[in-house]
Amino acid sequence: MASDDDYLALLDRAKDELPETIENHERFTLPELDIIQEGKITIFRNFIDVTDKLRRDPQHVLQFLLKELGTPGSLEGRRAVFKAKINPQNINDKIQNYTETYVICSECGLPDTKMVKEDRTLILECEACGARRSINVRKAARVDSPNHLREGDIIELTITNVGRKGDGVGKLMDYLIIVPGTAKGNTIHVKITNISAKTAFGMVTTEPTTR
Ligand SMILES: [Zn+2]
Repeated sequence: MASDDDYLALLDRAKDELPETIENHERFTLPELDIIQEGKITIFRNFIDVTDKLRRDPQHVLQFLLKELGTPGSLEGRRAVFKAKINPQNINDKIQNYTETYVICSECGLPDTKMVKEDRTLILECEACGARRSINVRKAARVDSPNHLREGDIIELTITNVGRKGDGVGKLMDYLIIVPGTAKGNTIHVKITNISAKTAFGMVTTEPTTR
C-alpha cells in the first residue's frame, strides 16, 4: 500500500497525464430521467426522450426494463408506466446497463451504433469507427454487473493514447488507465496498482488476466 503522500502525488500525476483528446472527449450523457411514483405505480415521464437519444426502439428498451425489473408495464404516449413501486435509482441503473450493452461501442466509446441481426446473433455495429461486436445478452441480464476495477486486477489493455509525460494510456470500462513504459498500439497485460475515481495506474505484467 502506498502512503498518503504517494497517493496524492499519484493523483497530481494522473491529472497531468490526461491527454487533451481524452479530457475534451465528452462522455455520452442521457437526459436526466424524470421518474415519479404515484401510489403503486411508477411513471417514467421522459421515456421516449431517452430512447430517442439512445436511438433504440422504445419497445426494445421497455421489454428490457420490464424483464430486469421483474414488473409488468406498458408504453403510454411518451411515458413508460410500471405497475409497481420502483426506486428511480434502480431504473437509472438498468438504463445505464442497457446503454453499455446495446448502445455504446466498446472500441471507441461512442453511442453512434446500430444493432443488426446476423443469423441468431445480435451485432452492435459502430458507425463512428466501424467496430463490430456481438451483444452479450447474458451480461445484460445479470443482476449484479460490476463495471468496477479493483486494485490487483489483471486486465488486457490496448494503449490508445500517450499522456503528456510520455506514459501510455488506455481505456477499459469507464476507466482511464495509465501504464508507464508502454507505447501507443501496445496490447499488454496490466496489473492495476492504484485507482482514483475513474483513473487507474497499472504496470505491465506477464501474469494471466483475472477478469
Ligand atoms: Zn466505435
